[in-house]
Amino acid sequence: MTEEMTSKERVLAALNLKEPDRVPVGSFATHVAGKIVGISVKDYATDGEKMAIGQRALFEKGGFDILFPFSHVGMIAEGWGSKVRYMDADVSPLISEYAVKSADEWKEVEPFDPEEVAGVQVLVKAIGHLKEWLDERAFVLGVMFCPMTSATHACSLSNVLKQVKRNPDLLSIGLETITESLIREAKALEEAGADGIFLAVTRATREILTRKQYEDIARKWDEKLLRKIHVPVILHVCGTDPLLDMLVDFPSVKGINWWDRGTNWSLSDAKVKFGDRTCLAGGIDQTRTILMGSPKDVEEEAKDAIEQAGKGGGFILFSGCDLPIATSLENIQAVSIAAKRYGTYPL
Ligand SMILES: [Zn+2]
Repeated sequence: MTEEMTSKERVLAALNLKEPDRVPVGSFATHVAGKIVGISVKDYATDGEKMAIGQRALFEKGGFDILFPFSHVGMIAEGWGSKVRYMDADVSPLISEYAVKSADEWKEVEPFDPEEVAGVQVLVKAIGHLKEWLDERAFVLGVMFCPMTSATHACSLSNVLKQVKRNPDLLSIGLETITESLIREAKALEEAGADGIFLAVTRATREILTRKQYEDIARKWDEKLLRKIHVPVILHVCGTDPLLDMLVDFPSVKGINWWDRGTNWSLSDAKVKFGDRTCLAGGIDQTRTILMGSPKDVEEEAKDAIEQAGKGGGFILFSGCDLPIATSLENIQAVSIAAKRYGTYPL
């Protein structure tokens, strides 16, 4: 057996397509991190120190190697003028008003200064605390959304999809402004100490954009942003028909995460097709097993994922999308228990 690694070493080995000591563990884990330490959704979303306390619990109690300081989709869109509503209940804050209401208004949107966007500052603070408190042992992600996804946070998805067909030139003006802002955000997160960037390319899926639409309108902005990122990137693709084959070879991308339990791309298929080019992150179904199953069920699912994609390294156990806030700590712990039990190298 390989000598025990720190979480950060373990994740970096997997991202570099090597065998770590064991399969690393993480998740798209936002408000559930606050919930397990009794922090309210609003406090978690607006206070970087509280966000870091929640994420630290995922490392110390949950056994996660990768930490995911992030709150909700609107926290960056506020920088372009969208408004967010915080509710008292255990639900993620929602965008209550979009900054851009018609294609013409893209001309008026300005790139933001990360120091003036509260949402970026929350992440910067959370990353800083985690790096300091955990003494560089955990792998801390800077979490971002790609330009096209961000456009659908500055303007409604239905409106943006109309613009894709009717006003692509005006939409492109918006995407350029957004990309400029996101390049600045990435720099701020890297300077805060992020070990990697988790870039959510959530609209690159065929039920939202066709291959041609993604190619013609969205792709160049993703590439422009990725070329400016200097740490390893894990791409996240939402949806049921993700365009994984168009994304795996992007610059800076070292890993890819998608809902393998709910799409046509199983982990074992992706391992054959891309396993020698990018690290695969998945296996945990955020919609079923970890939410509704027992710890034993979660362990079984994790074991199956390791069998599908763990061989030879280049694999991380990860949820397919955002873990529900109601996910229990016992089920979170079951993922790292399975990684130790079934994912110790050599497999
Ligand atoms: Zn997703």
